[in-house]
Amino acid sequence: MTRCAYINGRILGDAGWLDGYALVVDGGKIAAIVPQGDLSSDVAHVDVAGQYIVPGFIDLQVNGGGGILFNDAPHVDAVAAIAAAHHPYGTTALLPTLISDDLATIAAGVAAVDAAIGRSTPGIVGIHIEGPFVNPTRRGIHDADKISALDDAGIAAVSALQNGATLVTLAPEECRLDQVSALSARGVKLAAGHSEADFATASAAFAHGVTGVTHLFNAMRQIAPREPGLVGAALANPATWCCIIVDGKHVHPVNFRLAIAAKGGPDRFILVTDAMPTVGSPEKSFMLGGKLMRVIDGVCQSDDGTLAGSDLDMAGAVRGAVEMLGLSLEQAVRMASINPACFMGLDGERGSIAVGKVADFVLLDNDLQVTATYIAGTAVYQR
Ligand SMILES: [Zn+2]
Repeated sequence: MTRCAYINGRILGDAGWLDGYALVVDGGKIAAIVPQGDLSSDVAHVDVAGQYIVPGFIDLQVNGGGGILFNDAPHVDAVAAIAAAHHPYGTTALLPTLISDDLATIAAGVAAVDAAIGRSTPGIVGIHIEGPFVNPTRRGIHDADKISALDDAGIAAVSALQNGATLVTLAPEECRLDQVSALSARGVKLAAGHSEADFATASAAFAHGVTGVTHLFNAMRQIAPREPGLVGAALANPATWCCIIVDGKHVHPVNFRLAIAAKGGPDRFILVTDAMPTVGSPEKSFMLGGKLMRVIDGVCQSDDGTLAGSDLDMAGAVRGAVEMLGLSLEQAVRMASINPACFMGLDGERGSIAVGKVADFVLLDNDLQVTATYIAGTAVYQR
């Protein structure tokens, strides 16, 4: 791969915006970030004409895309197609996400992701297994028949991925602390979700290896006068990562503003999409657990109005964080890039525009629309 410099952009680097600098990519990595005047005249260059150059987005919760639901198609080709469906929205790395299912489907999903990463499929960095070890009373759209208790077979199944990172969403009150510790010791990242955990139970889980929460506020115990619940525990613990769906529908934006204020800023918040097959597809309905789900008023829902993931994409989530949460573009992008990378332990290779990291980056116009997406220095999308 040849050396190429991206010039006349506003680069979001680790220390903030850089104007008048060139981003130099070589061999799929970020080779240099240099003042444009220092660029040698013989290097190939692309003039991005004043656009923003930001780190590629990392989406930790992707049920599907391009008309495909991962649970229905736990195959390597489907994984690649889901990743490709998200390229136009700036997503350069994602975790295909299984909602509660049987261990055989989990094993197939893990094998599919292992194979995809083994083949260096652009944009696949691991798997998110959301359930089945969750609380039936907080199941949301998850199929009650698929929810199960955590046992040794379950621990083995969800920690089987050889290549890449694994995130498991579980309900702390449905698991023993030694099981939580065992999963953490196997390198699995853990998030509490679909949970009725009270403050004490959640806090104990946070002390034993649960480091995040899945879709904060949705499908979990809320703050009440004498019981802060899982929401209160997540906000009170400064280290806990909070994954949020900023589509203006799942949660009132004011609640997110309060949450960010409670944690002293957005540094521990992560934008996720919870995307369903409708993202990157003209088809705005799909089947889930034998039931028809439709996008109505921008939300995926069943006939009884239960939310079923989202029709949100990562660029939309970034715009939502700016427009609805009042955050700066820099803050919003970090919530979509370095924050998820740090949570998952991927920040050594990805998550920011820094010398030595994989050249995953996105060009945004003034309306924060994606005009190009690059993975390892290769354009995977251009408007
Ligand atoms: Zn969920």
